[in-house]
Amino acid sequence: MPHLNPVPLLLAALLSLAPTEALAQAGGSWTADIADIRRVAALIPGPRPLRLNYRRFAESRRTKNFSVKDAPPLPSVQARTAFQVVYADSYLMVDAGMDAAVHRFFGRGVDEPYDAAAATEVERAVGGARLILVTHEHGDHIAGVVHSPEADTLAPKTILTRTQVGALRTKPQMPEIQLTPDQARRYIVVDYERYLPVAPGVALVKAAGHTPGSQMVYVALASGREYLLIGDATWHMDGVRLMRGKDAPWVTEDEAAVLDQLRWLNQLGRTEPRLVILASHDEEQHADLVRDELLVPRLELPDSNPSGGQR
Ligand SMILES: [Zn+2]
Ligand SMILES: [Zn+2]
Repeated sequence: MPHLNPVPLLLAALLSLAPTEALAQAGGSWTADIADIRRVAALIPGPRPLRLNYRRFAESRRTKNFSVKDAPPLPSVQARTAFQVVYADSYLMVDAGMDAAVHRFFGRGVDEPYDAAAATEVERAVGGARLILVTHEHGDHIAGVVHSPEADTLAPKTILTRTQVGALRTKPQMPEIQLTPDQARRYIVVDYERYLPVAPGVALVKAAGHTPGSQMVYVALASGREYLLIGDATWHMDGVRLMRGKDAPWVTEDEAAVLDQLRWLNQLGRTEPRLVILASHDEEQHADLVRDELLVPRLELPDSNPSGGQR
């Protein structure tokens, strides 16, 4: 704080507001409104996407009690995934995968499965994307952009939030994903209050909690089917069903905000039958959605995209 030399009244007023605002953000008051999200996602004109694809390229094996507090310590697979929102003439990626070096960080000394062929597909899909979005600034979601030999060409078509960039600049999860100021400037850096339209049918929903830069990605298909890609708000959908957070000592979360999000998602799950709430790492959920034809378990690649005509 500055010393008490003449502080303009306006500044004094702003300073007096700051603690209240900080409290509101830290005090578990997160909420969102699905009607507002739908409205925002409809703001950008153009045909809506046709389907949602995904690819699983690695896994971590962690008993379920880490993903869902007080769950029994049963074996559980955390799938590492990237998602592809497919339009008639192009596609966007939600999360970007990671290379083997960053994957090893997550093994924490244990050698965990990494599907190099699948990871290469994710890499090619990221390279051919019209636009890249990330749910949050963790290495398993973002390394495919920031720790890639193609980082300089991917950055200008990747939207990062100011908070995500701040974390990647000064507090990266691992050294491999740290951004220099020069690198950070190449991204499309945005700051928004609650929701941001980014493509026809697609909106970002601010959801700090798992990390300061966490956000959800809402997607409405042409068919009327809707998805909410919730990133790591929970690692397993039991977290939403039971409204219980993680119990993982290696992550530091705003637990109140995460709980608010889990409660809101739980409510949404009970009242919005057209909406699929989709967690990044829940292998069981992904298998169910693939079976029900709500999720396509492959990526369309730039050279082999059958619908990839010119407009
Ligand atoms: Zn994460
Ligand atoms: Zn993750």
